[in-house]
Amino acid sequence: MFVSAIIAGGGRGLRFGGDVPKQLRSLGGRSLLQRSVEAFLRSPTVHEVVVAVPAEVLAALPGYLESTGGRLRVIAGGQRRQDSVSNAFRAIDPRAELVVIHDAARPLVSQALIARTVEKAASHGAAIAALPATDTVKRGDADWRVVETLVRSEVFLAQTPQAFTVSVLREALSLASPSDEATDEAVLAERAGHRVWLVQGEPTNMKITTSDDLAMAERLIEVRPARMRVGTGYDLHRLVDGRPLILGGVAIPFARGLVGHSDADAVCHAVTDAVLGAAGLGDIGRLFPDSDEAWRGADSMVLLARAVAIVRRAGWRVVNVDVVVIAERPKVAPYAERMRTGVARALEIAPACVSIKGKTNEGVDATGTGDAIAVHAVALLETGAPPSDYPLGADREL
Ligand code: MG
Repeated sequence: MFVSAIIAGGGRGLRFGGDVPKQLRSLGGRSLLQRSVEAFLRSPTVHEVVVAVPAEVLAALPGYLESTGGRLRVIAGGQRRQDSVSNAFRAIDPRAELVVIHDAARPLVSQALIARTVEKAASHGAAIAALPATDTVKRGDADWRVVETLVRSEVFLAQTPQAFTVSVLREALSLASPSDEATDEAVLAERAGHRVWLVQGEPTNMKITTSDDLAMAERLIEVRPARMRVGTGYDLHRLVDGRPLILGGVAIPFARGLVGHSDADAVCHAVTDAVLGAAGLGDIGRLFPDSDEAWRGADSMVLLARAVAIVRRAGWRVVNVDVVVIAERPKVAPYAERMRTGVARALEIAPACVSIKGKTNEGVDATGTGDAIAVHAVALLETGAPPSDYPLGADREL
C-alpha cells in the first residue's frame, strides 16, 4: 500500500514567542521540523513525505529538506493547519492510498507509533494516536468555573500521527469550513460521518507549544540512555566460472560468479554480520552454518531478513547501513540502486538509509585481479522496543 506522509509545519507558532517559527527551534541540535521529517523518512511503511512549511522557509530551504531520492517534497503551507494539509494533500503522489499526517511540533514520535497508526487506518479507514486521560477532566467556562466532570474513561487526548485512506481524507478536507479552524483532521473525518479509531499514543510524543514544553523535551532526550550500537561486517568470496553472480539480492549478468555454500551473496553476508555484530548476537556462520544442508544454495536475502528478525526480537532496529563492494569487475554502480532497495526491504528500513558503493582494488591482491569480490559493511542500530508501559493492541473505538 502506497503511504504518503504529510508533515504539518506551515504555522508560525505564535504562542511560542520569538521571531523564529516554532518548528525551527532546536531540540538537542536538530530542529523540531527536522526531527519530525526524519522520523517519517526513516519509516519503512512510508513511501513519500510532503512537508508544508512557511513561505520564508521554502525560500531558503535548510539542508535536511533538500530532496533525498525523490521521497521528500516541500510545499508552502497555508494560513491555517487545514490549509497546509490541503495544500500538501494536493501534492501527494497519485499512487497514494493512505495518508498519515503529523505535527511538525511532535518531534519525538516513535517508529512503532507511526507503524501502528498506519496499520489501523489501513484496516479501518481512519485512525489517530491518542492517550487515555489519566487526570480527572473538568469542563469549564470562560471564567474558569467547573461546568461538569467528564467520565474519565471516555476521555482521550488526541495526538498525531493521524492516518486516513485517501478517500476519507479527501471527503474530510472538503468539509473544512473557511470560517472555522479544525485543530486536527480527525474532527473533519468525524464530521463527514466516518468512524475514527484510537491507537495507543505515547506521552513522549508531546506537542511542543511553549518554551516550557521545549525544556521538558530537552530533559526527555537527555535522560534517554545511549541506545545506539554500531557493528562491522566483512566477507569475501572467490569468483569462478559457471556460477551466477548475486550481490545484494541482484542477479548481475557476468561471466563468473561467487562460490559458496549459499548463493554466496557477499553483500548480504557482510550486512548480516554488521547487524548481528552491532547487537552482539554472533555472526552469520554461527546462525546459518555451512555444515547445515538447510542453507545449501540459500537465498542470502532470506538469511539477512532472519537475522534482522532475531535482532528485532532482542529489542534493536537498524538505523542505517553503509556498504563498500570491492570488485575489479563488473561495475557495481548500475546495480547499486536495486541492491539498495532489496537490502532496505530485508532490513525493514527506507532505501535512503542504505548506501551501497563500488570500489576497485587497482589490480592489487585477489580482488584486484578479479579472482574474488570482498565487501565491507557498517550498521548502526538503535533500541526499537516501544515503551513497556504502553502495551500494543489497546486500541479503542472512538
Ligand atoms: Mg559469505
